[in-house]
Amino acid sequence: MSDNQNMTYEIYLTAYCPHCSIGLKSAKRGEDKIALKGKFQEKELDLKINPYLDFFEISTSEEISEDTLLDDISCPSCKKSLLTDEYEDENGCKAYAKLIVASDKKLLPVYLPLKFGKPFAGLSKADKRKMKPKIPRQKMPEQDPNLRRNNFQEVPHGLPSELALLEAQRCLQCKNAPCVKGCPVEVDIPAFIALIKEADFSGAARKIKETNILPAVCGRVCPQEDQCEGVCILQKMGDAPFAIGNL
Ligand code: SF4
Repeated sequence: MSDNQNMTYEIYLTAYCPHCSIGLKSAKRGEDKIALKGKFQEKELDLKINPYLDFFEISTSEEISEDTLLDDISCPSCKKSLLTDEYEDENGCKAYAKLIVASDKKLLPVYLPLKFGKPFAGLSKADKRKMKPKIPRQKMPEQDPNLRRNNFQEVPHGLPSELALLEAQRCLQCKNAPCVKGCPVEVDIPAFIALIKEADFSGAARKIKETNILPAVCGRVCPQEDQCEGVCILQKMGDAPFAIGNL
């Protein structure tokens, strides 16, 4: 087993219900999301929030548009409403629900808008950044040098799926992703990484092939350190760039 496979990592974000203090992690195994209940026109909705507090996901057959205003958001355990009048936006809108989030040993309130498409509020950008998963860049397992000097087999073994899933969590899904501009064929890098994050490896390969018919070759021969990875925002933030080439 390589060092990478032994590596542990820490997700800093834990969200709690302000009433019953229960942790609101999604019940789905291996999923790193916050689970809540929503109500819209008397129908109950399953809501999920990604750990970066960026967006809602809704499990429902109902059509929910960006501007939908929910009637309620509640705790799936104690069922109490999380609506609060503690927060209002600059237009005086008070339609927010409150969660408590633990980050860096601090407890912070986070306000979730009842209206989809509105940004979450209550956390500074610095606090949000601290809540990003602290996952180091995953190393590609390679043939032992003592073995590889005696054969012509490929040196890198490829990233096993569990390391690929870990690495995929490091991507910040930048809006105007500089990595795409750094790629000569403009592969939609954040989109294929998002598919890897969902363990949809075939979907990720199809996404790359939309603009690049030779991804396996490019993954090996492109100078990623000067192209996509060279402009990755993680590097500008003092971290190792995202391992786009390895993925
Ligand atoms: S620049 Fe880096 S962090 Fe941002 S989307 Fe591209 S790979 Fe992800």
